[in-house]
Formats: sequence, structure tokens, C-alpha cells
Amino acid sequence: MNKFEQLGLSESLLKAILDLGFENPTDVQEKAIPLLLEKDTDLVALAQTGTGKTAAFGFPVIQKIDADNRNTQALILSPTRELCLQITNELKNYSKYEKGINVVAVYGGASITEQARDIKRGAQIIVATPGRMQDMINRGLVNITQINYCILDEADEMLNMGFYEDIVNILSTTPDSKSTWLFSATMPAEVARIGKQFMTDPVEITVGAKNSGSATVSHEFYLVNARDRYEALKRLADSNPDIFSVVFCRTKRDTQAVAEKLVEDGYSAAALHGDLSQAQRDGVMKSFRGRQIQMLVATDVAARGIDVDNITHVVNYQLPDEIETYNHRSGRTGRAGKLGTSIVIVTKSELRKISSIERIIKQKFEEKTIPSGIEICEIQLLHLATKIKDTEVDHEIDNYLPAINNVLEDLSKEELIKKIVSVEFNRFINYYKKNRDISTQSGDRRERDSAPREGGNAGGATRYFVNIGSRDNFDWMSLKDYLKETLDLGRDDVFKVDVKEGFSFFNTDPEHTDKVMEVLNNVQLEGRRINVEISKNDGGGRRDHNGRSSGGGFGGGRSSAPRREGNFAPRREGSGGGGFRSDRNSAPREGGFGGRSAAPRREGGFSDRAPRSEGSSDRAPRRSESFGDSPRPRRPRRD
Ligand code: AMP
Repeated sequence: MNKFEQLGLSESLLKAILDLGFENPTDVQEKAIPLLLEKDTDLVALAQTGTGKTAAFGFPVIQKIDADNRNTQALILSPTRELCLQITNELKNYSKYEKGINVVAVYGGASITEQARDIKRGAQIIVATPGRMQDMINRGLVNITQINYCILDEADEMLNMGFYEDIVNILSTTPDSKSTWLFSATMPAEVARIGKQFMTDPVEITVGAKNSGSATVSHEFYLVNARDRYEALKRLADSNPDIFSVVFCRTKRDTQAVAEKLVEDGYSAAALHGDLSQAQRDGVMKSFRGRQIQMLVATDVAARGIDVDNITHVVNYQLPDEIETYNHRSGRTGRAGKLGTSIVIVTKSELRKISSIERIIKQKFEEKTIPSGIEICEIQLLHLATKIKDTEVDHEIDNYLPAINNVLEDLSKEELIKKIVSVEFNRFINYYKKNRDISTQSGDRRERDSAPREGGNAGGATRYFVNIGSRDNFDWMSLKDYLKETLDLGRDDVFKVDVKEGFSFFNTDPEHTDKVMEVLNNVQLEGRRINVEISKNDGGGRRDHNGRSSGGGFGGGRSSAPRREGNFAPRREGSGGGGFRSDRNSAPREGGFGGRSAAPRREGGFSDRAPRSEGSSDRAPRRSESFGDSPRPRRPRRD
């Protein structure tokens, strides 16, 4: 006997379950189904999406419906059109062996007359969004005065979206004798209020700890400067070549802008937000489900109810305004027992929110550093090697082998491997060689929680940026000596000196900060004013005594790059402009979302972008084999 049979489900439902391939009930199903089948009771279930809650209320409601009676007997309210359609489809699948059960979806953006006609034909179960349902009640197109069951799905989301009034009005139209089943991931005050107002002694079930995040999701945060948010996102994508993710932004405008930038930079990305037409949204979702899109950039509202399996990462490009929303975001990954990662890109001023979220999800975040260029190169190199190994050979190529052999015959196996790998890899090396690392660290979490600091003294020392470097004939020893002398400091008072061409970094203990800032900013070196600023991080690693920085990687270890545009500042703020734009215009892309580049790219202006191929194939979207030839989904319109 399989475990579903023990729950008391009917033969026809068990047959449908067999077809669906569900082997064992999930936690919420095991708890809710026997209870709801046994008696008519109100229920509050704390369960997130991905826990199998649709079946937890869907199986019992189908079993309890009287198929011979064509009146509406159950109403399911859900926050979005997508979720509404999803639930309707699931219920249709569950009830496929039941005779005479009709499930009708009622939602905005589609013909109300058609929906009314479907209901009139006899809909025992209506799945509705609150706004459209209220509309139908007002117009007398639906009768819910006889229902026996009312299910509020994702109640917290519905209230978040401002449906409180509608829900209260709708519930007031239903009979007192009905049973109400409320499903919610969290229990904010408004949800509890609805529960109190409309339910009698509800049975409460909780899946996992109350308000806790799924145990299969791990939570990470990356601390960056605000201006590096986008660069951080790209690096996270580059360091996860197989990423399949939802990237959350706070506003429609940001969502659109980030998606467009990613596409321009060669990633397979698309935007999903409320300003897109329904057809556009459906197109984007279809491409995402089909995995032609690796990074779906979405607003919270638009992403509600997204039920796509195997999402590897949820990226909080910006944290939500309402901390509770974090739960909904992270719940998009780690579904059906798979592991997932929820990433937060965070700035110093937002760090306190991390602690608040930890309290809500009852899970700790791991603080991670944005991978350095060299780490990304290493990851990509190994990824490429694996890809070469796994590539299936098309024997069409056999005809060309003699000619190819002719060209390559003087190369040894090792040389050949190096060259093949370099074809793809040189672009990454070149890109990351030119780009500084962007990681910053929060330091002690306790310190972080009590007083986020502005300056770069996370490691107990102050890190400075100064506009003199090897161009001024300094090396780390001579610069250290120069600083000690100019500042009148002791032998080991200046440390972690890291000299670049036009600028350098160094550390002192915080007690010297005022002096450094005051004295050094008033010194001239060969007629040029010295400029010193406090850097945003501590230079990484411990204090050492030879003045060498322990930060590794290309482009200046973990130091943040100078922010000003003076002649010493190597950061190419402007690269998103001129060179980039003309590049984009002259090299239209073919194929899928950023699939392949038709024209060679110029080396020059892309320092802030992901590396591109100089040849005919674009580096990113890395899954060029699988994405390259797919039709390009229509580009959503701008805000
Ligand atoms: P939900 O939490 O209802 O959104 O369900 C998440 C996903 O899990 C859906 O794709 C369901 O089809 C699937 N699912 C629900 N119950 C089971 C089960 N017992 N075994 C396997 N998959 C399930």
C-alpha cells in the first residue's frame, strides 16, 4: 500500500496521483489531507510554495465536492493570475478521473464574459484572484452564497498586495457554515486578523518551524559598495556558469534596466514585471521554463506564484522593502527537496536587514566575498574543460579532419589543449586582468549589528587610498618609508602597502587616521597635490610586517578602486557609454537571448562588461549550444 492510500484518498484521486508520479505525500499533505477528509474544520496551515500545499488542499476539496450538484461549492482565492492558472491546472490534473467536476479560473486581464459563461455552465470549484472575484460579485455574475469550502492560498501575499478589503468583502458574501482553509508562508498581523474574523477554532499545522525558510535553501550575502552592485551580479553569474536564477529588483524600472544590461553584456536574461503585456510575460515565462533564459530579472509582484523547478539561485539584487518578502523570494529555489542558494547583494547601510531576516527565517547567512577575477577564471577554465570533454562530436566534422590535421599537425597534445582552451579563455583573463576586485567585508557581525562603520577599518586598521604609485617611482618599501617620514610615524605604523601604477593603498591603526588625513592631504609631491582617502575595506588578511598586502588576484587584490576621475583613477566609469554603445550598435546579436554575436567585438570599451569574444561566438550566455539557436523572445518594452 503506498503512503497516499493511507491518507484516505479515493480510488480516482489515487489513480491521478499515480499518473502525476507523486510517490510519497509531502509533510503538509500528510498533516492536512487526513484531517480535512475526516471532518469539516477551519484550518490554518503555515507552508510555503514548493511544499506541495496545492495538493494538500486540492485532494480533499476534490474528494468532498458533490459532482452531481452543479452549484459552486468551493472558492479558492490566490494572489496572482499565474498562481490562479497554476492551481486550476493542478486541480484539473488531480480530478481527471472524477466525473463531472468543473474547475474554472477567474482572473483579471481576460474576458469577464467568457469567465461568467464558464461559471454558468456549472463550476463546482472556482479559483480566483480577489480583484476579479469582487468584480464578478458586484456584477452578479457569480453566486458563492452556497459554498462549503473557502481556501485562501498565499494569504500573506494577497494581503501584501493590498487585497485585504476585497478578501473581507468576498468572505462576507459566503455562508458562515463553510469551512475556511488558510495557507500562508508567514503569519503577519493582518493574516491573523482575517483568521480571527472569519474562522472558528481553526486547526493549526506548520510545516517545518513557523516562518522558517526551507531547509534546503542556504543563504549567503555579499557586501559590496552600492556602485558595484551590477558588477557583483555579473561576477556571481560568471562564477556559477550553470546558474538558473530569479534575480529580484525592487522596482519595475530597475528590473528592466538590469535585464537590459545583462542582455547587452551577453547573458541570457529577461525582465518580468507588471508593465509588460500579458503576452510578453507569458513569452518570458515560457522561455524561462524552457531554460532559454538563465537569469529572470523580476519584481516581487510579477514573480509571485512562479513555479519553476530546479532554480539554482535566487539573487536579491536589492533587498525587498518588506523583510517578510524575503521568504517568498528564497522559496523559489530549494523546491521539491533540491538544494538551492539565496544570495543577497548588500551594501553596508543595509547590513542590519540581514540580521532581521535571520531572525525571521531562523537561519544564519554566510558572509561570502565576491570572487576575484582569478577565481572566476579558474572556475570558467574548469567549466570549459568539462564542456569540451562532454561535447558530443558531430561526425559532419570528419570531412574536414584532414585539412584541420594539416593546420595543427606540428602541435603537441599539450600545446593543442592549451590553445583550444585559450580560444575561449583569453577573453576572461583579459577582462578580469583589467578589472579590479570588488569585494568588501563586514568584519565582526556584532560590530556590524551595533554600529555599521563608514570607513575601512573592518580589520581593526584603517585602509587608505593615495594617488601616488609606481609611476612616481615608488615601490612598497620606498612608499612605506616616505609615508613614515612625512607622517612622523614609527617603524611598523604603516603596513599593507600595496603599490599600483597610479595609486596605492596602505593601512595604519585607527589612532593615526586623523593625522594621516590632515597631513597627507596638505602635502605636494613634485608640484602635485597628494590626495588620500579612506578606502572601503581593510585590504584583506592580517597585518604583516613587511608592508606587503596579502590580497591576491588580478587588478589590485581586494582593494576598492579609486572613485575619482583624476589622472590616477583607472576605473572606466564611462565605458557603458561611447565605446560600448557603438559596439552594441555595430554588432547586433543573433539567436537567443544574447546568444551569439554576429560581429567581432572591440577590445576597447568593455571594461565594465562581461568579456566578449573577439571572434564569432560570444562567451556569455555560456550555454551557447543549447541557447544559441532558440528563437529570441520578444524584447519587453521599456518603462
Ligand atoms: P506547491 O507547493 O503546491 O506549489 O507544489 C510544488 C511542486 O511539487 C508542484 O510542482 C507539485 O506538482 C509538486 N508536488 C506536490 N506534491 C508532491 C508529492 N507528493 N510528490 C512530488 N511532487 C509533489
